[in-house]
Amino acid sequence: MIEDMLRTPAAVQDAERHTAHNYHPLPVVISSAEGAWVTDVDGRRYLDCLAGYSALNFGHRHPTLIAAAHAQLDRLTLTSRAFIHDQFADFCRELAALCGKDLVLPMNTGAEAVETGIKVARKWGYQVKGVPAGQANIVVAEGNFHGRTTTIVSFSTDEDARADFGPYTPGFRIVPYGDLAALTAAIDEHTVAVLLEPIQGEQGVVVPPEGYLPGVRQLCTERNVLFIADEIQSGLGRTGTTFACELDGVVPDMYLLGKALGGGIVPVSAVAADADVLGVLKPGQHGSTFGGNPLACAVATEVVRLLATGEFQRRSAELGERLHAGLRALLGKGLVAVRGRGLWVGLDIDPALMSGREACERLMERGVLAKDTHGSTIRLAPPLVITEAEIDHAVAQVAAVLAG
Ligand SMILES: *Cc1c(COP(=O)(O)O)cnc(C)c1O
Repeated sequence: MIEDMLRTPAAVQDAERHTAHNYHPLPVVISSAEGAWVTDVDGRRYLDCLAGYSALNFGHRHPTLIAAAHAQLDRLTLTSRAFIHDQFADFCRELAALCGKDLVLPMNTGAEAVETGIKVARKWGYQVKGVPAGQANIVVAEGNFHGRTTTIVSFSTDEDARADFGPYTPGFRIVPYGDLAALTAAIDEHTVAVLLEPIQGEQGVVVPPEGYLPGVRQLCTERNVLFIADEIQSGLGRTGTTFACELDGVVPDMYLLGKALGGGIVPVSAVAADADVLGVLKPGQHGSTFGGNPLACAVATEVVRLLATGEFQRRSAELGERLHAGLRALLGKGLVAVRGRGLWVGLDIDPALMSGREACERLMERGVLAKDTHGSTIRLAPPLVITEAEIDHAVAQVAAVLAG
């Protein structure tokens, strides 16, 4: 510990002094960034292989997004939803079209999108499905990560995320991820929704077994239950498709979006669904002061337009192949598992070798930023603007770290 402190630069200690210690950041202090690269206060450059947990899918300061933000800052930044502003219609129409849904409901953070999805599903359950008052339940998966609010941590299976934050919100049933039989058994006549990540990001980029998501879709349709896909981390190009659900040819009833939707500039989240679902909300029943604000809409509309070209999804699919192939070559050389889709990989390091944290510290010393998830698992999720040469560089640094 003392040794740690001695090695810790002053700028790192400064940053930790007056904040709650709810994070354990890598000891790097970043002061500027562009594309896939960040620079620290001492001028050292690092390849960003976390990309803000996928909030930076388009890289740092994508010129189109920065230009949109600048232009909007000079015109109008906030109105609240009490009034309508001129950036709102385009954003909602274009995002709904990207999602193939009738309507969107803009919020700010991912957790708010999840909370919105839960509220909409419950109201739909009472008003459309006919569930008796107060009886609605929602089925979720073990190992989920949906955010940090009191309701969301109520159905977390991660003790760190959940312990000592009760009393917990009732109305959730937890089943093993990837287990269709367990899901089938958990659904009853009061079930209003199944809420899942199509790939579990925080759990270590866990891809469900083949056939699982189509099975969930079929089950939800048969039992008149909403399938809510939390695509906050998996969506918007990360997996080589606009939505991870597409990889399995599945269309959920509701998409929860966030992270990359804000273009790495502002927090923007949204729920997208058809009118028979989102239409249950009437004035006064839900809202957010900052949700759908002009700056957020101006940036997010450009995000949707970038995605509408398909270029980023293509890059993620093609470059993802290269990243996966490079890392799979390290299986047996310190790696015990490589999972994921597109430019999104969970790596299990041989626990006898080092922890995920240690691996990330060593990668940092080699100029690559990544983040451990649990134990010896680390996640790589570089910006989708990363190049082939940069991927090879990242893989070479992982190899060097594993080789000691
Ligand atoms: C990050 C994340 C959230 C929460 O988003 P915040 O913006 O941090 O509230 C929810 N679901 C998933 C899958 C996420 O990765």
